[in-house]
Amino acid sequence: MSGRTHARVCPERTCVGCRERAAKTELLRTVEIEGECVPDPRGTLPGRGAYVHPALVCLDQAVRRRAFPRALRVPGPLDVMALRRYVEQAQGC
Ligand SMILES: [Zn+2]
Repeated sequence: MSGRTHARVCPERTCVGCRERAAKTELLRTVEIEGECVPDPRGTLPGRGAYVHPALVCLDQAVRRRAFPRALRVPGPLDVMALRRYVEQAQGC
């Protein structure tokens, strides 16, 4: 199984945390607003988006390897407080 045979039903994005590809709908879109990484669950905010699984492990990995600034093409470190809170609630723990 090469994985190249399945139908392309939905667009795929790469999680900036674990670097795995997943359906866009399974990932949380985030955008940068004034130095802050904010969740955009409805995909309505303008600008570049970075996609991450709504899971703390992926979020932490992304933060550790500074994937958000890179993916969002911004120079400095980003505040992920709002994003973390969102993910914590989404995980329901
Ligand atoms: Zn992930």
